[in-house]
Amino acid sequence: MTFQSIQVLPAQLVSQIAAGEVVERPASVIKELLENSMDAGATRIDVELEEGGMRLMRVRDNGSGVSKEELPLALARHATSKISNLMDLDGIHTLGFRGEALPSIAAVSRLQMTSRRHDGDAGAWTVSGDGGDQLATPQPAAHAAGTTVEVRDLFYAVPARRKFLKSERTELRHIEQLFRRIALSRPAIDMRMSHNGKEMLRLRPEPESSGNSRRVADLCGEGFMAHALPLTHSAAGMQLDGWIAQPSFSRSQPDLQYFYVNGRMVRDKLVQSALRRAYADVLHNQRHPAFVLFLSLDPRQVDVNAHPTKHEVRFRESRLVYEFLYHAVHSAIADERPQDAAGQHAVQLTASDQSNTVVPQLAGGVSGYVQPRQSAMALGVAEAAALWATNDKSSGLLAAASRQSTHEHPIADSPERSDGRGTPPLGFALGQLHGIYILAQNAQGLVLVDMHAAHERVLFERLKRAHHAGAVPVQPLLVPVNVSVSEHDASLAEEHAEALLEVGLKVDRQGPQTVVVRGLPVLMNRQVDAQQLLRDVLADLGSDEAVAGAGLAQKVDAILGNMACKDAVKAHRLLSIDEMNALLRDMENTERSGQCNHGRPTWVQLELSALDRLFMRGQ
Ligand code: ADP
Ligand code: MG
Repeated sequence: MTFQSIQVLPAQLVSQIAAGEVVERPASVIKELLENSMDAGATRIDVELEEGGMRLMRVRDNGSGVSKEELPLALARHATSKISNLMDLDGIHTLGFRGEALPSIAAVSRLQMTSRRHDGDAGAWTVSGDGGDQLATPQPAAHAAGTTVEVRDLFYAVPARRKFLKSERTELRHIEQLFRRIALSRPAIDMRMSHNGKEMLRLRPEPESSGNSRRVADLCGEGFMAHALPLTHSAAGMQLDGWIAQPSFSRSQPDLQYFYVNGRMVRDKLVQSALRRAYADVLHNQRHPAFVLFLSLDPRQVDVNAHPTKHEVRFRESRLVYEFLYHAVHSAIADERPQDAAGQHAVQLTASDQSNTVVPQLAGGVSGYVQPRQSAMALGVAEAAALWATNDKSSGLLAAASRQSTHEHPIADSPERSDGRGTPPLGFALGQLHGIYILAQNAQGLVLVDMHAAHERVLFERLKRAHHAGAVPVQPLLVPVNVSVSEHDASLAEEHAEALLEVGLKVDRQGPQTVVVRGLPVLMNRQVDAQQLLRDVLADLGSDEAVAGAGLAQKVDAILGNMACKDAVKAHRLLSIDEMNALLRDMENTERSGQCNHGRPTWVQLELSALDRLFMRGQ
């Protein structure tokens, strides 16, 4: 084997190697260029692309500009105007700071930078660079105050990387995603993007005072906005602002998750795990929450220099940040109770002249339910028809209403309309519809409750409270239940017997493949199927969905959720009016009762005015 002598690598090669870290694809170039424009204080940024950015990317801004003397330096390695010493590195306020983006890009493309300073009268200058040591000589050019960077033929000199570029469509999609992420964080900047000469996105600037909501709606959709809860929370020197979507607006992909730390977009494991845990109560495991959140904290508390692309950050006090995020989001979700939610649960009824069917729509400008899961809650045609079929005395609304009139509860207002005083938010039960929905009358009109989903939620919260207060009290079974399970599950049960006792399950291993259930939570119904429950609980225990910092806590919640589901009233069980009212009162007193454990809504409101329109009253 022959050894080569050690050499200092030529600067251009160093740049090409560094480019591998910073410049992965066209979108990474756009990210660096946009960040430079924002650091330069631009109020308008135009992006022009050709062939998914692979042929051309041009970013033009009206920022501070660069002087003739500094222009060659901007393309030199580790030249930056943003930090000068290690002290600075401790508290970075700008998006860029490493001084390696432009030389790295220049080393793997044909880069030209043209600029004119805002102040002074030295005219516009242009340079092109190759990422090497040689400082380029600026040439006079024509350009308004601000900077244009043009990047052509990315990776033309690095065939190995060029091969990895995907189709024009794919690269364009990556650029667009990135553009959106950045645009969300800077609503005051007028931003445009065009591709092959066609305008793709045009985002008008929005004044600070308007609270960013228009840009969020532009970029995340009206659907998100209609389901978004605004959030502001501060503690321990940190501030969190933004919007989180109600659990019913969950996604099957984590594609609507925008998180910024001091204005820098970040995709961070700690952040993700805190958010996931905050939603764990109300979201099925396979669903993803949607959010746009801005965290501000002392720049010295966060290291953005953890990775060349600066996507990941390191928080100095990671535990503190985790808890802060979790509590901010968790309590915002918990505040969603029937008391204040009437508006967003309102459903409009529209009668169709032709078919006599009823189409429920969400009020407030939202067209229909956004999630297919939710359609389970929207009135099915059969149920709607039952509502409509007032001549059928044995079922439907009239039957329920006639039962109501004989009931002892103080329903204030039939046949006159309620003034709303003294009626609880979810009102009083009228009856049951097809064994699935509870109908209730409140001040606004008719309330429909998904009986099973609502009960499940109430039980879940009750079990959780008991668990937090120490342990869920156990009721010993008079007749213990033997359950045969796999050997693996039997060992699991043995190993976790103590933890199971804390959730109200008393179990013993009886043999290699037998576990005996000796007690169930006092809070649970006696009719529950102990065998099935134990099997599900062991499945929860065995699942290794490791979530940093929330491992066991999350499993306990899953187990309690499972118990609640097993115990909740099943569809088609007849409830007495008293039982229904008890459930309504329980819902009002339960956190997060607006959604079931799987993020579906548990109830909807049909406003009287909507019913009036249905019957063409007052027209
Ligand atoms: P960094 O952003 O980490 O400082 P870059 O290589 O991205 O490093 O940019 C180098 C320098 O070029 C910046 O520090 C800045 O002074 C200057 N610069 C780059 N882009 C612009 C721009 N659009 N407007 C004004 N100055 C710019
Ligand atoms: Mg930069």
